[in-house]
Amino acid sequence: MDDRLSGYPDPDFSLGTLARMGSSRLVTKAHSLLVTDARVWPAPDERLGDTVSILIVDGVIEQIGAGLQAPDDVPRLSAEGRVVTAGFWNCHVHFTGREWSSAATAPAESLQHALDDMLLSHGFTTVLDLSSNPRTTFALMRRIATGELRGPEILTAATGLTPWRGMPFYVKADVPWVLRWLMPAPATSIGARLTVAAQIRGGAKLTKLFTGSYVRPDQVKPMRLPVARAAVAAAHRRGSRVFAHPSNRPGTEVAVEAGVDALAHVPDETEGTETLLRQAAERGIRLVPTLHMFASTVTTDDGYLAPIRAALGGFIRAGGRVLFGTDVGYMADRETRGEYEAMRASGMSTADILRSLTTEPAEFLGRADTGSVAVGNRGDLTVLQTRDDPSPADLANIQATIRAGRAIFLRDSPSKHTADAP
Ligand SMILES: [Zn+2]
Repeated sequence: MDDRLSGYPDPDFSLGTLARMGSSRLVTKAHSLLVTDARVWPAPDERLGDTVSILIVDGVIEQIGAGLQAPDDVPRLSAEGRVVTAGFWNCHVHFTGREWSSAATAPAESLQHALDDMLLSHGFTTVLDLSSNPRTTFALMRRIATGELRGPEILTAATGLTPWRGMPFYVKADVPWVLRWLMPAPATSIGARLTVAAQIRGGAKLTKLFTGSYVRPDQVKPMRLPVARAAVAAAHRRGSRVFAHPSNRPGTEVAVEAGVDALAHVPDETEGTETLLRQAAERGIRLVPTLHMFASTVTTDDGYLAPIRAALGGFIRAGGRVLFGTDVGYMADRETRGEYEAMRASGMSTADILRSLTTEPAEFLGRADTGSVAVGNRGDLTVLQTRDDPSPADLANIQATIRAGRAIFLRDSPSKHTADAP
């Protein structure tokens, strides 16, 4: 397959393929692990504790306390007095770069390097893929589930729906014209319904709508409201959450009126969006800020960025709830520090940011067994490098990432091989 197509549907792609690769069978093997010397920050509204141990048995946290014992065959991992939180979520990623091309057949080593660099070294145990080539995403999910690759749990929106003849210009630049018809761009409500139904049947757990699509750098095409409404209804009937890419006022209006569940970005053309964002907050629509993406891919000019930060501030003041997400994959910068610092500059505390990384996405996706460090929860943990009360920037410095009791990332540690044993 041509490298240039890696992010998008290719000629072999069909929903039948997708269904055969269906994600329901992809259950990752559970592991046991004793994490010692951990300063647990159980949840954003709780206090950072003294050092304890965490015993994970078959992927589930069984005990938290001082001086825990475990059978000899259970691997040990010392947190060395560092802060341990629930595993982080990144609610906006893409697997569209060249490094993911041929994800089904590429050597595990190169894919592993990309997974480490983009996700695991930043503490992510669960990620939301908001539009990629489903073949790529499902191949990664399959290879992670078999244990061939160490990776996060991936929930995917398959390929996002664009307005009719409204493919984003940056996608168009990457897809040869003969293949553009493969991108779902329903013209009618019926088309939207069928597309969403087929994607969910094929294993998509989320739905993504470009309610405002940048068809040119200076022009946004909104999705027609009846089309967006039909897509949302079809998704909700099947239990799928809907994310919208709003871009500007009309795109935000369609998203809010259609009843989507989350905005995948702050609209970057903020003019006229203040009331809409307040309405979104009041209706419980979540917001993924992706502030650093705007600085990284558009301009660092504060005349452009300050209104975007202010729009996030207004949404939060109206009671709006934030999901952490970076848009990595579209954005080449894989570091998370820029996003944490921009969130702090918008008035968010470390606890607010941790909430967006853990409890908020867990609640949003109905995953009661994740989001906090508690007995009975899944053994998804993120070990920070700091040993003290973290600042927002400290959330960017990760020592280890643990998913369901398996250390899937360890930063230069002699215990690596012990902890990584199956
Ligand atoms: Zn994106």
